[in-house]
Amino acid sequence: MKNRKLLMIPGPIEVDPSVLRAMGEVTTSHVAPNFIESFGNSIELMRKIWLAPNGQPFIVAGSGTLAMDMAVSNLLEPGDNALVISTGYFGERYKNILATYGANVTVLQAEIGEIVSLDKIEEELSSKNYKLVTITHVDTSTGVLTDPKSVADIAKKYNTLTVLDGVCATAGESTPQEAWGIDVVLTGSQKAIGVPPGLALLVVSEKAMTVWKNRKTPVQNYYGSFTNWLPIMEAYEERRPSYFGTPPVNLIRALEVSLNLINAEGIEHRVESHLIYAKAFRKAIQKIGLQLVPKREEIAANTMSAIFYPEGIDGNQFRKDISEYGVILAGGLHSEIKTQYFRVGHMGAINKSDIVATLSAIEFALAKQNYSFTLGESIGTFLENL
Ligand code: PMP
Repeated sequence: MKNRKLLMIPGPIEVDPSVLRAMGEVTTSHVAPNFIESFGNSIELMRKIWLAPNGQPFIVAGSGTLAMDMAVSNLLEPGDNALVISTGYFGERYKNILATYGANVTVLQAEIGEIVSLDKIEEELSSKNYKLVTITHVDTSTGVLTDPKSVADIAKKYNTLTVLDGVCATAGESTPQEAWGIDVVLTGSQKAIGVPPGLALLVVSEKAMTVWKNRKTPVQNYYGSFTNWLPIMEAYEERRPSYFGTPPVNLIRALEVSLNLINAEGIEHRVESHLIYAKAFRKAIQKIGLQLVPKREEIAANTMSAIFYPEGIDGNQFRKDISEYGVILAGGLHSEIKTQYFRVGHMGAINKSDIVATLSAIEFALAKQNYSFTLGESIGTFLENL
C-alpha cells in the first residue's frame, strides 16, 4: 500500500514529480554556467507567466511574506499614505508590514466572506494622496477572490501604485499584470507556481521601478532591497556570474522546471483548468449541503475553498479521519471563525483524480459522524460538472 498522503491544503501543494526530481539534482555553484542558465531562464519565464513583458522579475530566497515585505519597503517612504484592502488574515499582515516601514496605513476591511465595494475604495483613494494600495488576490483565510483589475483601474485615476498579494493566486487565477496595469504582482513558490516553499517571487512594473529609483530616502530594508537584488537579476538575465546572497540553487532549478511546465501548457489554459475544477468542486460540496465561507459564487477563489463544517460535525475529528483516509486538509485560519471551517487547496499540478480522492475523503469523514447525505453524491456532481 502507498503510505504517502495527498496534500490538498492551500500551500504547500502537491508538486509535479519532475519538479521534485530537479530538487534532487547535484547542487552546483551559484556561478556555474548551468545554474546561471537556469536562473536567467526562470526570470524570462516569469515575465511570460505574469504576462508582464516589460516588468522586472525578482527571485529571492524567502517565503511569500518576504515578497510582501520587499514590494512595499522598496516603494514606500516614511510618512507615505498606504491603503490596505483586506479580505482576511493576509490584509492584516500587510497592515503590520506597512506600519513597520513608517507608512500611514488605512485599512478597508471587508466583512468575513465578502469583498470591499469599489465605491468605498474610490471614496478612500480620492480622499487623500495615497502612494500605494495593497490587494490580496485570494485571501487564504476566507477563500475570497478580489477583482484586482477594477481596483487597479481606480488606483490609476489617483496615481496610486497597486501591489497585488498573489501568494494564493498567481498562476491559478487570471492576472495579466501589464494589461491590468498592476505595479507589483508577488507570490511564493509553494502555491500555484508548484515548487516547494522557499522562494519569494515578484514582478515589478516599469512605473514602480521608476518610483523606487526616484526615492528621496534610502530603503529601510537591507536583505530585501532592490538596490542589492536588481544588479543580480540583471546579471543572471545577461548570463553573467554575480553574487549578493547565495541563491538556493536546487530550488531555482525546480522553479525553472515548474515554470517551463506552466509555460508549455500556456498560462491561460492553466488558469481555465483551475476555474473548471473549482466550479465543479464547489457544486459538489454544496450538493451534499456544505456552505462556503465566500458569500457569492463570483467571489469564490479558484485556487482553494474555505468550507463551513455542517452543524454537529466535530472539526478536529473530521480532519483526523480525512488524514487517516489519506488526504491532508487545513483547518481554519481566520481568528473569528477558526473552529467553524476547513480549507481545501486545489491549485497547481493537481488532476481530476486528486479532487475525486479529496471528495471521497470528505464524504468518508462526514459519514463517520452520521451526517445525513447520499454517499457518492459529491463525486457524481463533480464529474457531471466537469
Ligand atoms: N499572502 C497570502 C495570500 C498567503 O496565502 C500567504 C501564505 N499562506 C502569505 C501571504 C504568506 O506567505 P508565506 O507563508 O510563504 O510567507
